[in-house]
Amino acid sequence: MIVTYFCLNCWNEIDKDITICPYCGVDQRELDKIEFNEKLIRAIYHPEPETPIRVANILAKLKLKSAIPDLFNRLVNEKDPYIIKAIVEALIEIDIDNKERVKNILSKQIPVTVKKILE
Ligand SMILES: [Zn+2]
Repeated sequence: MIVTYFCLNCWNEIDKDITICPYCGVDQRELDKIEFNEKLIRAIYHPEPETPIRVANILAKLKLKSAIPDLFNRLVNEKDPYIIKAIVEALIEIDIDNKERVKNILSKQIPVTVKKILE
């Protein structure tokens, strides 16, 4: 099995044993010290669709209120209906009051994946 590693700052693919990212120059050992929640929130912006979906599910379980601004940030220009679904579910799970704002953001084109959730 090939395990892929990503820089925890710029999310470029890097070698497993690398300490300084060749793309952004950030020391991966420094990033290890960043709080777990902070890393989780950063991962909302991960370019690979599986990651934000997984992260949104974790954030929903944790009901992490500090993730709300970044979840909305990612939602605004998101095109992937599965990422949208995971983010919308997380936002509503964290705080039901987010529902109206989600509706406003998606009002132009509500993806089929979230139609039921927003009814
Ligand atoms: Zn980097």
